Amino acid sequence: MKRYSLQIAGQAQPSASGQWIATLNPYTGEAWAEIPDGNAADVDAAVQAAHTAFSSGAWPQLSATERGALLRKLAMLIERDADKLARTEVMDNGKLFAEMRGQLQYIPQWFHYYGGLADKVQGATLPLDKKGYFAFTRHEPLGVVAAITPWNSPLFLLAWKIAPALAAGCTVVVKPSEFTSASTLEFAELFNEAGFPPGVFNVVTGYGAKVGSALVAHPLVAKVSFTGSDVTGRAINQAAAAQLKHSSMELGGKSPNIVFADADLEQAMYGAISGIFAATGQTCIAGSRLLVQRSIHDAFVERLVAFAATARMGDPMSLETQVGPVTTLPQYEKVLAYINIAKAEGAQVVLGGSKATRAECGKGWFIEPTILTQVHNGMRIAQEEVFGPVLSVIPFDDEADALRIANDVRFGLAAAVWTSDIGRALRMSERLQAGTVWINTYRAVSFMAPFGGYKDSGLGRENGQSAIYEYLQTKSVWINSG
Ligand code: ADP
Repeated sequence: MKRYSLQIAGQAQPSASGQWIATLNPYTGEAWAEIPDGNAADVDAAVQAAHTAFSSGAWPQLSATERGALLRKLAMLIERDADKLARTEVMDNGKLFAEMRGQLQYIPQWFHYYGGLADKVQGATLPLDKKGYFAFTRHEPLGVVAAITPWNSPLFLLAWKIAPALAAGCTVVVKPSEFTSASTLEFAELFNEAGFPPGVFNVVTGYGAKVGSALVAHPLVAKVSFTGSDVTGRAINQAAAAQLKHSSMELGGKSPNIVFADADLEQAMYGAISGIFAATGQTCIAGSRLLVQRSIHDAFVERLVAFAATARMGDPMSLETQVGPVTTLPQYEKVLAYINIAKAEGAQVVLGGSKATRAECGKGWFIEPTILTQVHNGMRIAQEEVFGPVLSVIPFDDEADALRIANDVRFGLAAAVWTSDIGRALRMSERLQAGTVWINTYRAVSFMAPFGGYKDSGLGRENGQSAIYEYLQTKSVWINSG
């Protein structure tokens, strides 16, 4: 079985613990590789390496143009290895190869974009209200960044953090999910090949409660950038706040997909399906609530069910497969438990509603695409993040009713509106409490568009030009010019 190594200061090494964690393939339920079971000593070594690369100036004192050039070189190596890294991700998270390859092919754009942005960060001269002084600002990197990532899109979500962080001049220690660390460990090797100074990018694998918490608590870490569940995010944010560390949090969602009767219903149907069943519902932006205008509710649900029933399940490596397994066993059990809770609350299962027993699903952790009707906002299934292939359909009467239902959850990551009325689209986009609003589309993301949560869905924004300032601090310099 393949054994991976930690990546610290440009060196591949085992954990100081001498222990390993088996990493499982969700399609077979079997171990396919081992990752180091890291501990606090590994975290300290990685943070010290990142701190040395920062404080010695090896990284932040390269010119921004040189940093940008290295990031663009890294982009080219990712392009070269996209298929290989995507295959590794599928082994670990069971998402469709087509999707993971698509992500890997898109990731280089983050490094091109922020590589190009590195030398466009400029301070300002200040038109002061005081005579005899001259003042200007500088934007300086924060220092060592801890990046803690989840299992659903390990390298894609990592790129959102490290491309701006490295462009800004920060150095990084990553703690990937213990369920899906292999691709991040392979990715780390590309930094050496591209010629990055040692210590700029380090990876420590292991359990969140041991390695993740030691990383957040390390005094030399200046900023924590986290993507994951809101429960873990809250705990990490509190630990970071205790030491007045900067933090960015990209947490969960309960995103509404809102279909008005005047929409292109065919497009809306595809949007609703991909919104929830892509990645087996395991995305923070999953459109897990489908709000349908009452006048078209029954006909739309019928169409949706007929289409979703044709989904091909099976081997995620096959380009024919449309719905793969759930990534982890605990998650599989959690999703099934949520379906039972919904049933007990009075929801009606109009499609799926159980584990998948189709022959092509083998021993994998598969759940049938599930559609629930008779759902209302008083039910847990309408309020809590499931992170699985479970869609709750809720009827609404008019715009005001749709807004009331859509905003009546504690999350605010994304929302979509399907309508042919431009005025309505604009009104809804203004009033929906969500960091991203899509009109007549779903799941679109880009390195250029800021992404992040309202309400309990997070703090800070990733992507777009402003994301580089999440890794910079501003200094005002005053000169007494007499
Ligand atoms: P999910 O796996 O559902 O995204 P989490 O939000 O718990 O769940 O995990 C996201 C990341 O946070 C993983 O890398 C995990 O190991 C890490 N993590 C979990 N608990 C902690 C913790 N207490 N401190 C730091 N990191 C943690």
